[in-house]
Amino acid sequence: MTLNLRNLDLAGTQASLAPLGVGPDVGRRLFSVVHRDGATSLTCQTVRGLTKVSAAAINAQAAWPELEIVDRRRAADGFMKYLFRLPDDRVIEAVRIPLPDPAAARELKERRRRGEAPSLAALPTAKYTLCVSSQVGCALGCVFCATGRLGGIRSLQTWEILAQVRLVASEADHPIRGVVFMGMGEPFLNYDNVIRAARVLSDPAGGAISAKAISISTAGIVPAIRRFTDEGHHFRLIVSLGAPTSLQRRSLMPIEGRWPLPELMAVIRAYAEASGQRVTIAYVAIGGADGNTSVAHARDLAALVSGIKVKLNLIDVSDDTGKYQPPTADELSAFRDALTALGAPVVRRYSGGQDIGAGCGTLAASQRGGEACAGGSAAPAGPPDL
Ligand code: SF4
Repeated sequence: MTLNLRNLDLAGTQASLAPLGVGPDVGRRLFSVVHRDGATSLTCQTVRGLTKVSAAAINAQAAWPELEIVDRRRAADGFMKYLFRLPDDRVIEAVRIPLPDPAAARELKERRRRGEAPSLAALPTAKYTLCVSSQVGCALGCVFCATGRLGGIRSLQTWEILAQVRLVASEADHPIRGVVFMGMGEPFLNYDNVIRAARVLSDPAGGAISAKAISISTAGIVPAIRRFTDEGHHFRLIVSLGAPTSLQRRSLMPIEGRWPLPELMAVIRAYAEASGQRVTIAYVAIGGADGNTSVAHARDLAALVSGIKVKLNLIDVSDDTGKYQPPTADELSAFRDALTALGAPVVRRYSGGQDIGAGCGTLAASQRGGEACAGGSAAPAGPPDL
């Protein structure tokens, strides 16, 4: 039987290795060598306390599957999009998002207040967040999303999620300090593998990334949000709304037909109350007459989240089919002002990588023989606009 240690969290590693004579402490060191150091074979030199017999038994069973990086595209603003090939020849994407040192960001904000016009690109990068995929394609079919147009193909295994982080980190010039599950796929339709990957990433002996810097985004799988609440995870929850009314949301996100807004808002409220955490609502901002950023939309949205501990993130839609356009600067500032006047806590995220089509699904779709899926749901969100 094959043993894929890259698929296992700490408890799983210890349980799998116990029959091979490995105790919990050595199991923990071995877990660290696998996930932190990216080991592809184990010896008593690399894992303190591992006996030669146990090492031989593990190596005889172990498989070390790997992703292949097939493309990298760097945007002018420092965002970097990766395309990976999976063992079954499918392709997925991840986007590396540069984050500045907080002190440098504050200084830039101050300069802008003084009337200077430095760009975000002027900020030196201090660390990265990685936006990862959790599935190949996506079954939810949001109309503005290239990944949705691929359809639901399959869920990623835990190791396929973790490999995105490990491979990008291995060639990055700054550490990866955050991970957001907002790439291809609906993370909560791959709940077990996503949570296991998040556990490995946040384990001090694994990725050692703060749980609070790991965000899991969902389009609104209500039973999974309930489960996430009951399990008491410290990862951050992001819920995508897309529209403030059921009528409009149903036209943009078919999931509204399965779990409508009232049910979704009830579980968001329950999560916020149980966790004491502010839930991030990702609002994919669409401009124009058929968009979702009018003052009336602001009123509906403020009413929808009223009394719930949330933070609204406005993220420009990124749809290369051209059907859905991001709001103009005037539309967006009127929308944001209306939300603020109504007391809704709103930030506009910087939507990066526009020149490389960083919205999820765009690169993967183009690898499928140039079919028409050239859009994307939303360009990955970087730091708040400064
Ligand atoms: Fe799936 Fe997210 Fe795209 Fe909707 S926006 S189709 S949930 S990947």
